[in-house]
Amino acid sequence: MAAANIRIVLLGPPGAGKGSLAQLFDQRLGWRHLSTGEIFRHEIAKGTALGRRVQRYVANGRLVPDALVVEVMAHRLTASGKGRRGFVLDGFPRTAAQAAGLDAVLTRRGLPLDGAIYVTSPREVLVRRLAGRLVCSRCGANYHVRTMRPKRPGVCDQCRGALTTRKDDQPATIRTRLRVDAQQVKPLLSYYQQQRLLRRLNGIGHIETVYRRSRQLFRRLGWVKSAHDRAQKSR
Ligand code: AMP
Repeated sequence: MAAANIRIVLLGPPGAGKGSLAQLFDQRLGWRHLSTGEIFRHEIAKGTALGRRVQRYVANGRLVPDALVVEVMAHRLTASGKGRRGFVLDGFPRTAAQAAGLDAVLTRRGLPLDGAIYVTSPREVLVRRLAGRLVCSRCGANYHVRTMRPKRPGVCDQCRGALTTRKDDQPATIRTRLRVDAQQVKPLLSYYQQQRLLRRLNGIGHIETVYRRSRQLFRRLGWVKSAHDRAQKSR
């Protein structure tokens, strides 16, 4: 395999492209994609106890309390064997307290992080992406009404699930989410900077362009060994 079993967190504001990028890392590099946002949306749709607890935070673009998010992720990461194959956490951690909570969980399991990748984009790009985003209701894949259209309108290319608009991608909630993110980001970045884990990734451009950029970064870090990843090999 071209990629080592690497464990990373993907940081960045809403609309930075974390979800789409994490899906490509999963499909092409074999790093398991775990998204707190997706977990929460799934639980809300199923009407579980967890879903009911997080519903109002997600609907309003507010952060779910740190202790609860860390508990949910600890559970997902400690289920048997998970984490051994490498993973990419998307949308978690979002605060320095969550980062410390994650460290405690990973240290207990002897699975330290390899890196924290901060995906950056100007605000106008973030707003444009969020406002035109379509999400598969079944597998969570992301599309965009103009820049990343599905092959068949309204249908996911990967699983044929129905594409929907996220309720929290409404203009007022987008503004709240960007504000909340801006309040948390500095201490979060300092946390990983102090650990010498922080890497910046320019998130401007088409997802495949950003993916290529990330591959260059990973090659420099020795995380992937050749230009050929799984998807390219199987073509
Ligand atoms: P996302 O899909 O990452 O944009 O997350 C959607 C929503 O889920 C956020 O606006 C929050 O309400 C909630 N959420 C996701 N991840 C976290 C997290 N790490 N901490 C707190 N809330 C979160």
